[in-house]
Amino acid sequence: MFEAHPRSFAENRYVYPVLSRRAGGISIGVNLNADKFCNFHCVYCQVDRSDPREQQKQAVDVARLSEELDRMVALVASGEIYEAAQFRDTPPALRRWNDIALSGDGEPTAYANFEQVVAACAEARRRYGNAEVKLVLITNASLFHRERVRRALNVLDANGGEIWAKLDAGTEEYYQLVARSAIPWRQILDNLRDAAKVRPIVIQSLFMRIRGEPPRPEELAAYCDRLADILAAGGRIKLVQVHTIARKPAENWVAALSKAEVDAIAGLVHGRTALPVAAFEGEMGGVNSG
Ligand code: SF4
Repeated sequence: MFEAHPRSFAENRYVYPVLSRRAGGISIGVNLNADKFCNFHCVYCQVDRSDPREQQKQAVDVARLSEELDRMVALVASGEIYEAAQFRDTPPALRRWNDIALSGDGEPTAYANFEQVVAACAEARRRYGNAEVKLVLITNASLFHRERVRRALNVLDANGGEIWAKLDAGTEEYYQLVARSAIPWRQILDNLRDAAKVRPIVIQSLFMRIRGEPPRPEELAAYCDRLADILAAGGRIKLVQVHTIARKPAENWVAALSKAEVDAIAGLVHGRTALPVAAFEGEMGGVNSG
């Protein structure tokens, strides 16, 4: 996989390239959560946390991350990456750099130096990129109220940033069932509303079968109401992504919905909110969303 540039990314700790057919090009992933830390414990999470040794919270080495990012961006921007075995068969139409995505094996905003990391990503994009290259933050929205996170979001806004924020429930009860987090439900809703009032956001939602049962119609109606609440408060939502489980989940009592079920939820959300909705059954937009 990494034959052509063994030192360029095989040994990276934070930065990795992904060919995304959906994005129509290369996404440079930045994973701050090598320690797999997250303040949610989603029942569908795809991150393997079976080894407790991996879950000691570690500081992000921003200098190392910046070096890795610089090398990766240079490889992608120059096209040299297509000489690597993993990317040699990339069709010409997909030989383009789409984005830098902050996601990973946990919640990226949970790191004290998240602001510096966003600044490093913005700098790398500025140096090598063009206006089409996006900076994408994939997040559970749990910490937007922290001042240091707000500042980082402002840097994101100034540098072609997009926030893809998780919302998987319409009610507190279902949120607790799915996310199993100490972060209050009200905080999540307030954070989504406040972030959407500053810039348009993307909502990423994952629905699944729990112990054989798909989400109840009342839950889906409440979920649409939560989206409507954001809009009514003056928030802007540029897209709602409806996903289901695509890889092995944390719990064996959750399972994917069928394509028809995902499409039906997407149709319902569009019908109830008039928002643009995209349905996905396969590849996720980012690791953070499961
Ligand atoms: S799905 Fe995302 S937010 Fe949920 S536990 Fe996994 S990494 Fe955390």
